[in-house]
Amino acid sequence: MATKLVIRKIGLLLSGDLHRPVLDADTIVVQGDRIAAVGREKDLDTAGATVTIDVQGTTVAPGLIDSHVHPVFGDWTPRQSQLNWIDSFLHGGVTTMISAGEVHLPGRPKDIVGLKALAITAQRAFSNFRPSGVKVHAGAPVIEKGMVEQDFKDLAEAGVSLLGEVGLGGVKGAAEAQQMVAWARKYGIRSTIHTGGPSIPGSGLIDQDVILAADADVIGHINGGHTALPDKQITCLCETCRRAIEIVHNGNQRSALVALRAAKELGQLERVILGTDSPAGSGVQPLGILRMVAMLASLGEVAPEVAFCFATGNTARIHDLDCGLIEAGRAADFVVMDRAQHTAGRDLLESVRLGDLPGVSLTIIDGIVRSERSRNTPPAMAVPVIT
Ligand SMILES: [Zn+2]
Repeated sequence: MATKLVIRKIGLLLSGDLHRPVLDADTIVVQGDRIAAVGREKDLDTAGATVTIDVQGTTVAPGLIDSHVHPVFGDWTPRQSQLNWIDSFLHGGVTTMISAGEVHLPGRPKDIVGLKALAITAQRAFSNFRPSGVKVHAGAPVIEKGMVEQDFKDLAEAGVSLLGEVGLGGVKGAAEAQQMVAWARKYGIRSTIHTGGPSIPGSGLIDQDVILAADADVIGHINGGHTALPDKQITCLCETCRRAIEIVHNGNQRSALVALRAAKELGQLERVILGTDSPAGSGVQPLGILRMVAMLASLGEVAPEVAFCFATGNTARIHDLDCGLIEAGRAADFVVMDRAQHTAGRDLLESVRLGDLPGVSLTIIDGIVRSERSRNTPPAMAVPVIT
């Protein structure tokens, strides 16, 4: 029999939907791994719950999505020699991650057969193994010169649905990037492109002209990873290219605000998504997504409840994921938070608007509690009671 989870006494329910970021509801009913109903407790069928979580008037949001990570295998990264980095992200509220390429694999193959094999292996490995329950969408090949249409067809037929950041491999020219992104799209593979100067020795510059020509689905780290393009190019990319605008933690934070302002002025905040781009030279950032939300909400003139949508519903829509929104039928992936102890903010939203991080008190993936009081965020004022 499927489990029935009831989450009650929700003080603030963030929807993940930019057009209605706060829901008028205090209870969520989950059947198995799906949201069954959302509303007022008195109107919902809460009888027969196998687990009840009283969140004590605190905040529930969809589990956060990191749109840009570089995993390798398991919960290990060779980039900074860390174990359990994904579990640490779970403690920062992240329940889903999207690979932008398994670039840090020591000895990563760059021949075409090898890079295809690696992508297929990574896709399989992370579908079979979820570190601490976190959904890692991986198997994102880093394209190289000489690939032909049949290679993209082979990858798609083998289950690969993502391209690694265009520009991390040998393909850096406008025409070849455009051709390969188009082949990927033809077979249902979503693409992202590196934006800005080289991230580490060996990677290269990708500027506005290449990005516009390539027309990848995501303008990856538009604020640089780390070195950003000039403001004029960032603004031009937002205005000219209709694709997703990805802002990352491992980038230039001033340029992040330039991109956000451009999206806002265009009335296209639904294009903005957030990633960390970690593990990277700047490290592993377990609280990176929360830090981006707080940074954009405190310095970027967007409401905190809107900034949370950048890390949930927007990313889910762009990557066609079944999570990221609080609505019936969606995956039951949640993060429970409260304002941190001793923040100057009187409630969670005000604390985020002031630039403070919330305290994560619980995470749920597919209807199952995965972590309780975070070991990484500042402590939440109130924590849920599970019965
Ligand atoms: Zn990059």
